[in-house]
Amino acid sequence: MSDDETGLPGVLLDLVPRMTKQGYSREQVDKRRAWLEEKTGTTLPHIGAMTIPAESLRGNIENPIGSVQMPLGIAGPLVVNGDHAQGTFYVPLATTEGALVRSYERGMVTLSRAGGAVTRVVVDENRISPTFVFDDVAAALAFARELPLRFDTIRARAESTTRHGRLLRLECHPIGREVAVTFCFSTGDAHGMNMIAKAAAAACAWIMEHSAARRFYMFSGVEGEKKAAASLLPGGKGKRVVAGARIPAALLQTHLHAEPRQLADLWHRTVLGSIHAGTLGYNGHFANGLTAMFIALGQDVANVVNASTGVTSLEVLESGDLYASVTLSSLTVATVGGGTALGTSRECLQLLGCLGAGHAARLAEIIAASLLAGELSIGAAIASGEFVAAHEQYGRNRPETPPTS
Ligand code: NAP
Repeated sequence: MSDDETGLPGVLLDLVPRMTKQGYSREQVDKRRAWLEEKTGTTLPHIGAMTIPAESLRGNIENPIGSVQMPLGIAGPLVVNGDHAQGTFYVPLATTEGALVRSYERGMVTLSRAGGAVTRVVVDENRISPTFVFDDVAAALAFARELPLRFDTIRARAESTTRHGRLLRLECHPIGREVAVTFCFSTGDAHGMNMIAKAAAAACAWIMEHSAARRFYMFSGVEGEKKAAASLLPGGKGKRVVAGARIPAALLQTHLHAEPRQLADLWHRTVLGSIHAGTLGYNGHFANGLTAMFIALGQDVANVVNASTGVTSLEVLESGDLYASVTLSSLTVATVGGGTALGTSRECLQLLGCLGAGHAARLAEIIAASLLAGELSIGAAIASGEFVAAHEQYGRNRPETPPTS
């Protein structure tokens, strides 16, 4: 391969050796890293100390040189009373944010002492929304009205590419002279984006042959994949999951040092602030727990953008106790496919009894219960004035001198 393949005048680039044929053998991974060390004058022993079998990286990454290591903590016990998850769990969290694991842990202990979180999966789907372009708005609208009549044929085309994907319905969204068609799928225990992109592509090929569409694009933006969007709130992109619990006032005071009315007041004030900011949904820090669990459990971490759209509710009951709930609108998680089979992901999924087929809904419920614990804990820390002190105690790693190795 020549250096001037890029076509950029005057720029000579050394491209990363691709070693395509056996690019995933341990030897090739080490060789690529050695090449990089020489090019950059660095040594990369931590990156090279990978225990994940190099061959298993195929399909998950290109040009591998090793792996990064994230600290992994454990939080629990977490009692979950779900349709799919029942029992006591210890939840792996991969993070470098000090105080995060401790915060989730104390929320989990409080929840568990209160009898646990009740969890339910409300909607279990994933979607992709290709867009079709027509000559004018009339042709677009005619297409949008007619397409649902062809559902059975389109479903057969789509499902011909997958054993587990099921096309549930089509939703047409005319926009000017385009129509974005949302393909709503059940994806089994997979996240499903590769699966449904392939299935939708097969269906789109048929639609192009049997409609007045001039061209189409696989993504219109309507699907909300890896984007914050108000359309995520009703559900349909991943799993819509709820978790709730009644926390006795005395227990809240003992474990989280706050009273129900303080948490409800904080909720009210921060809802106002969130409305002022134009936030989609409302929650304290779904993204914290989601990111830490997604890294640990081999999920696609970029999906935190859609998965962190949701609503937390904190209210005082007539009894004086607290009722807390979380609603996750768009939880895109999997127990097969993607990064779930890699060494550390596999071990973390095993910890939760969630490895492999038949466990995605269980994982979703455990994640929802964990986020409920995180919301209780951060809410109480802010309401009681302990937030900064907790981070001073657990969350600072001030370098005395800049790290050298
Ligand atoms: P995948 O690993 O590409 O495919 C999942 C595989 O698991 C399929 O071959 C499926 O078989 C099989 N499978 C076995 N048992 C299953 C079960 N019980 N339930 C469901 N499937 C089962 O993963 P994916 O979930 O389709 O795609 C996820 C990946 O796509 C993520 O890693 C993400 O990073 C990436 N992604 C892709 C796009 C895109 O547009 N292509 C966008 C965003 C993210 P069948 O296919 O025969 O059903």
